[in-house]
Parts: sequence; C-alpha cells; structure tokens
Amino acid sequence: MNKHDLLKKHFGYDSFRPLQEQIIDDVLAHKDLMVVMPTGGGKSMCFQLPSLMLEGVTLVVSPLIALMKDQVDSLRANGITAGYFNSSQVGTEQQEMLQLLKENRLKLLYVAPESIQLLLHHLKPTDISLIAIDEAHCISTWGHDFRPAYTQLAYLKKSFPEAGLIALTATADRATRADIKKQLAISHAQEYVASFDRPNLTLEVRPGNDRLAQVRRFLKKYQDESGIIYCLSRKSCEKLSDKLSSLGFSVAAYHAGLEHRFRESVQEQFIKDEIKIVCATIAFGMGIDKSNVRFVIHYNMPKNIEGYYQEIGRAGRDGIDAHALLFHSYADVIQLRNFASDSGNSEVQIAKLERMKQFADALTCRRRMLLSYFNEYLENDCGNCDVCLNKPDFFDATLIAQKALSAVYRMNENASLNLLIDVLRGAQNATVLDSGFQAIKTYGAGRDISWNNWQQYIIQMINQGLLEIAFHEFNHLKLTPQAKAVLFEKQPVKLAVIPKPEELAARNTRAVQEDLPSEINKDLYAGLRKLRMQIASQENLAPYM
Ligand code: ADP
Ligand code: MG
Repeated sequence: MNKHDLLKKHFGYDSFRPLQEQIIDDVLAHKDLMVVMPTGGGKSMCFQLPSLMLEGVTLVVSPLIALMKDQVDSLRANGITAGYFNSSQVGTEQQEMLQLLKENRLKLLYVAPESIQLLLHHLKPTDISLIAIDEAHCISTWGHDFRPAYTQLAYLKKSFPEAGLIALTATADRATRADIKKQLAISHAQEYVASFDRPNLTLEVRPGNDRLAQVRRFLKKYQDESGIIYCLSRKSCEKLSDKLSSLGFSVAAYHAGLEHRFRESVQEQFIKDEIKIVCATIAFGMGIDKSNVRFVIHYNMPKNIEGYYQEIGRAGRDGIDAHALLFHSYADVIQLRNFASDSGNSEVQIAKLERMKQFADALTCRRRMLLSYFNEYLENDCGNCDVCLNKPDFFDATLIAQKALSAVYRMNENASLNLLIDVLRGAQNATVLDSGFQAIKTYGAGRDISWNNWQQYIIQMINQGLLEIAFHEFNHLKLTPQAKAVLFEKQPVKLAVIPKPEELAARNTRAVQEDLPSEINKDLYAGLRKLRMQIASQENLAPYM
C-alpha cells in the first residue's frame, strides 16, 4: 500500500500536513533527520506511517511514560501493532513485549530513555529499522527541558548503524538543533523546520500588578471555556487554584509535587471538559492533545521563549481564536534570574531569560519577535497582538540602524549588546579599551543617543530580524541576511519612537483600561512606573550580568 492509502486506512486522514510528506519520503530513504515542528503539528505521523512501510521495528524513544500506554492503545485501535517498554511495567509485561518483538509482531516499540540500556541487551543490530527520538530537545543542556537519561542515546546510532534516525522536537533554536544533532551522532542530518506561526493566537502582555483581579475579569470573558494558568511555583498554583475555586470557577491545581494518581485524574478531567481551568507548573501539558483550550495565562513570566511558545501553543489547536496572556513583573524576572544563576550553564539561561524579558518589554509586533526567535521572519506586523492593536509611532531610523549594524560588522560580530552600545557611545571603560574596538570607524558615532535609547533601538532591531544574539557564543550580536541588505543595499529601517516614561505608563494603562476604573489606574501605574524605572536603571549597568 502506498503512503496515501495507509494514511487513510490507519489514521483516517485524506492529506498530509505541511512537511509531513517530504519527511516521510526521506525517512523511507533511510536518511537521518532533525525535525522541528510546533506542538500539534503532527510529528508522530512522520515516524508512525513509515514504520508501516519499513521492514522490522521502529524504536520510539519518548520521555512521556505516563502517555505511552495511551499512545500505544490508540495505535492499536488504528490497527497498528505497537508496544511499549518502560519502568512502569512489571517484569512479565516487559518479557511479553520482548517476546512480541522477537516474533516480529511489533511495528512500533515505545521506550523510555531510562529503559533503553536494558532493552539493548535483547536486541540485535538488525532488529531495528528506524529510530525516532521524540521530544529530542531533552538531550541538550541548551534546550529548555534537559533530561540526563537522554544523554544515553548518543550511541543508538552506533548500535544500529543500518537504521535511519529521526529526532523530533517542538522547541529548539538553531544552536540547540546543532547540539542535538552532534550528540546523536547525526551531524549531517537534514533539518526540517516547520512554520511556527499560530495566527489564531492573540498575544498579549500586561503589567503583573493586581494579577488576581485581572485574571478574574479576564475569565469572565471565557466562561465555560477551557484554559491553563501557568504559575512559577507549586505553592502559587495551589493558592491561585484555591482562590479561583472559592470564587466559583471550575479549577484544579497540577504540579509535580502532587500524587501521581491525582495528577492523572486532573489531566483526564481537563481533557474531558469536566474541569475547565488548570493552575499548573510547566509540568503540565507536555504531550497533551486537547484541541479546545481557549486561553493560556502566564501568571508568572516563563524562563525563556522556547518554554513560553510551547506553553501558549497548547491553546487554539482547533484553529479557532484563542488568547495568550502574559503577566510581566520584574519581581518574577529577578526570581528567575536567581534560579538561572544557580543552574549549570547559567550564562545561556540568563541570556535566554533576558530575551524573554525583551519580548515582554517590546514595542514592536510580538509575533514577529516571537517568530524571529525561531529564525522565521514575518513580512508584515501581525495585527493580532497588543502592540499591533495599540500601535506606537514609527520613524525613519535607517541612519541609526546603519550605524549600529556597521559597528557590529566592523567588530567582526564579536561584541555583545552592552559592548556595542558602549562603542557606539564612545565609552572609555575597561571592556572597551581591552577590546581594542575604540579603533573602529564607528566608535563614538552614536554619542547623541542615550544608552537607554540605544538599548531599545537595538532590541527592536533584534526583534525585526536585523540582528541575532548568539547565546552560545558569549551573546555576541550577529548580522542577519536582512542586516546586510540595510548595510550594503541601503534598505530603509523604521523603528518605534521610544515613549517617554509617562507615555509608557499610559500605554500600559490603555491595555487594561476596559477592566479598571480610571482612578485606580493612576495610582497603580505611578507605582509601577517608579519600580520599572528603578529596576531599569539598575539593570542598565549590566543588562546581561
Ligand atoms: P505533535 O507530536 O507534533 O505535537 P501529534 O503527532 O500528536 O503532534 O499530532 C497532533 C494531532 O494532529 C493528532 O491528533 C494527529 O492525529 C493529528 N494529525 C497528524 N497528522 C495529520 C494529518 N495529516 N491530517 C490531520 N490530522 C493529523
Ligand atoms: Mg508529539
């Protein structure tokens, strides 16, 4: 049977989603592949369908033990022989799976990374025709959900040299993709990166003051709809859930500290629409296939853009409008920064957090910024985020952009944001003097613009896709192809006028105006503005610490 017939017969679908067909063809040709596709994009199909056409067994490595049984059950219901092998099984169950495998009665075998060693004892190199590594970002410490057990996968390629290997994930920036490939010993693998745009998601960022009241008003608009509220800590999940529950909402808490059975039941009731709202830590949602989630609220700021994107991606999978609301508070940023400093790899984590904060502070289209993080550049502003719906004024900033880009160019793309600004402003601090960059032609060419404004402009340029931050190369700024068009082909650049502090406060007020009586607004935002200014001035000393 050909792939279209199999798609219809086993899965009931008439056509492939974008990229699925090319990927499947490559898998069938035994190529090694790295696939990045948003959550819900249909990654499983890329190995499930080929498994039916290949001799032998497809080995699927997945960290989601809780979901393995469901996945296998639904494959079986579609007439596909599948099994799983993990530590939740008793010995006899594992033996049964191995027996099925030996008798060549399985097409797909799901295995947890922790159990792979044990399984390998029972396999010959020719037993496996295809290896699929699902949630492959877990192998990289640069990714956002590193799992030590995943590092055991490095030698799979050696154990099964004949088998093709396909690594799949919903979240991996360019450097993380390279790291995944290196670690899996498939450096030559072709990459497929699907579009990350989710046009039906409205993106909104609000100041995080008086969050509970804001959430209550927000939820009024979504009565009887499903949604997820992500909180930073287990305790705040429970507190918020209790509060909302006492206000009459259908809500439960979910975090890794709760008993396994309780968590499963929350998840199940949420999927069945018996619980409408889940207040959760990031432990919730991975691998859940629920199409009618209408909103995702980030009660606290996520620690990086990969996580944020992944989490908002759980809303609106049915293609119908959905809302992603992020609360932005500097207290969260400080707390996250402390966490990041304590982690291994703190430099990368802090830089990624900084990027997340820039997203929340942005004066440019949020969707463009979000997609540019994944190296995808939208031609126009989206019209469906709070910035687009409440547009700042723009001015012709071609000259400003040329100055900054030419400085980056003359410094051989070896400077961070801070150093770039210092060089543009002709600063004479030790870093500048050590760098030797005071000798370049653009040194001091931007004295007329304040440090703060330069920072805003350059962040806007990053958001517009003119510059990229190389997180794994000391956060140095790199020129994009678009930047070269500005530098060498005189392409014009427009930047948003930076609002004065009073205007900024007013702008934030406007976003929530519908909800708040105006006299409260004034006090609230005066306080908030003061805090913002205080923190901003501290951070300007060392925005990248
Ligand atoms: P991912 O792993 O990328 O998050 P899944 O593999 O779980 O996504 O697929 C998400 C949903 O899309 C599933 O319900 C799946 O059956 C469905 N799906 C996959 N491929 C197609 C297709 N070609 N046409 C329609 N639906 C599809
Ligand atoms: Mg998946």
